[in-house]
Amino acid sequence: MQEDLSTETSKQYCPYCGEHIRLIIEPFDEPQTYTEDCEVCCRPMIVQVEVNGDVFLQREDD
Ligand SMILES: [Zn+2]
Repeated sequence: MQEDLSTETSKQYCPYCGEHIRLIIEPFDEPQTYTEDCEVCCRPMIVQVEVNGDVFLQREDD
């Protein structure tokens, strides 16, 4: 099995349901913010990815 080295996964916890989730993080040259649905509770969370790979999750209704 060949791994795609251009992406990495980040283990996070959903800000809504607290379940463990796995995000696919793609390398970027600048900070990114996007919305992704939790795979457990399907609620939209705001994903913020810093250039150094740090990931922050926020509830959309905060
Ligand atoms: Zn969730």
